[in-house]
Amino acid sequence: MRERQVIRMGEFAIQGHTIGKHRSAGRWILSHLTKQWQLFIVMFIGAFGNAALAAVMPILIGLAFDAALATPPDVDFIGWAALGILISQVVRAVLQLGRNFASSVIGERLERDTRQDLYVSLLGKSMTFHDLQPVGDTMARATNDVRELNLMMYPGINLVVGSANFLIMPLLLAPRYHWQLILAPLFFIITYIIALAQYMNVLSRISDRVRTAFGVLNSRLAEAIDGIEMVKSTAQETAEVGRFEKNARAFRDATVAQGREEAKFLPLLLLGITEGIGFAHALLLLQAGQLQVGDVVAYLGLLSLFGFPTNISLMAYSRVSLGMAGARRILELINTETDLDENPQGYAEPITGEVRFDNVTFGYVPDVDTLTNISFTVRPGQTVAIVGQTGAGKSTLTKLINRTYDVREGQVLVDGVDVRDWSLASLRRQISIIEQDIFLFSRTVAENIAFGAPGATQEQIEAAARAAQAHDFIMGFESDYETVVGERGVTLSGGQRQRLALARAFLTNPRILILDDSTSAVDSETEDQIQRAIRHASENRTTFLITHRLSQIRWADLVLVLRKGQLEVAGDHATLMETSAAYRQIFNQYEIEEG
Ligand code: ADP
Repeated sequence: MRERQVIRMGEFAIQGHTIGKHRSAGRWILSHLTKQWQLFIVMFIGAFGNAALAAVMPILIGLAFDAALATPPDVDFIGWAALGILISQVVRAVLQLGRNFASSVIGERLERDTRQDLYVSLLGKSMTFHDLQPVGDTMARATNDVRELNLMMYPGINLVVGSANFLIMPLLLAPRYHWQLILAPLFFIITYIIALAQYMNVLSRISDRVRTAFGVLNSRLAEAIDGIEMVKSTAQETAEVGRFEKNARAFRDATVAQGREEAKFLPLLLLGITEGIGFAHALLLLQAGQLQVGDVVAYLGLLSLFGFPTNISLMAYSRVSLGMAGARRILELINTETDLDENPQGYAEPITGEVRFDNVTFGYVPDVDTLTNISFTVRPGQTVAIVGQTGAGKSTLTKLINRTYDVREGQVLVDGVDVRDWSLASLRRQISIIEQDIFLFSRTVAENIAFGAPGATQEQIEAAARAAQAHDFIMGFESDYETVVGERGVTLSGGQRQRLALARAFLTNPRILILDDSTSAVDSETEDQIQRAIRHASENRTTFLITHRLSQIRWADLVLVLRKGQLEVAGDHATLMETSAAYRQIFNQYEIEEG
């Protein structure tokens, strides 16, 4: 879960972005779409014009038929009709372009805006949320589901609106020839709407299933790739492939189920029936002398306009349905309550650095206490060494200071103020946590150092790097500070990462620095440099070191010894050596380990 460290660095605050709560996905989407009303007008005009000019063609053909059947045939009129068709279809193409263009732009903007909503909301969520939410599923929502919204607009809604206008035309124009001719179009439209409503109803359930199956598929895959070392070292490849196949099958089944429903779609049959009925009806009227041949031809041409809504409705409404399923999934993520109150109006003063734990009890999951009844006080500027076995709760303890998590009982106080009464942004801006597993972005070295201080100048960045003993190795890279880290750039050793993180801390100048230094062995020269950098970093600020290095323990003002979530003893090294047998035992053990 490397993503977590980004947020734990704690230097960011989301400003100027508030996402209102939306109860339904429809309203949320609508709130984004209404902002683009001008483009919708273009789209509607384009759609109506396109349909109207499509209807001009059968009308002119009908008139031309009558002109051809007249005695003598009116050749001139036929010529004019042909010209009329030509011009109307050219204009129609332009209007169609306007409709497509407008809806395509709306779709792209919708994708951009909803992605922004989701991103801002993800950054604002509590760590508990991120602990529980699989990264792969979040990624599926942030990429594919957001994309579905774009496709919902274009081609989805674009075709829905376009074809709705094609539905209206026969209804409006057929009665021109004989009032009874409204019957066949009316039959088609009513049955079409009923069939569509029923189809959408079934489809929305299946679309939800398709999108959910995709989310599961993605999150398992992301986990397997994230933990690839584990998978390989335990020879679990086959089992993982099996799991992937199972999820891929579930996704396929959901998609096939969608296809099956689509296959049952009725309107194609309805269109056939409508055209059959319409043709018979028109012939009867012709026989009765109430219609001309040209009228029959025009009428059939108008009925054929239903072909467009019939043929595209499968695809268009599936897109809308998948888009709405995507919207629901994104909104679900956005609306998930973050259980951390950011308290923007809270206490926001410069920290002097006193940290007090007052009977603190905390657990990640209900009923299990990871830390129990912890109490201690650190004075401003002191250095605290936290020692204890793996799993004793050392890093958990530090995470309560910047409210990565909130205590279950008791209080954590910074400068005498309960951390929950602090403005979260102000508190976190002044506290840096450097984790054991340091996260670096795939950006340049300089950008990585300046992550918490985006306005920093090159001089400031270099000064920070020097203070962190990182300048020399950075200058050894091909493009110095402009070298790209990670994926397609250089890879850094643990010791180098740690010093980059320290450089970050020098730059943001936090009042409280928390550093997990339980890294495994590095060569002694690097070790020296790191120790110097850490010592330098701990000057003038309250510093917590999670460590088993004897030098750091000796030099700390306060040593906290944790054991199974309890604070076993606390005090400075000299005192503890004298007074605590447990401490002497731990210290001796470290001495043996360090050799
Ligand atoms: P230490 O830093 O001393 O090695 P930690 O504070 O990391 O110990 O962990 C203390 C206990 O809390 C361990 O039992 C660990 O499994 C558990 N733990 C740590 N992080 C989480 C988490 N995000 N969710 C649930 N349990 C956790």
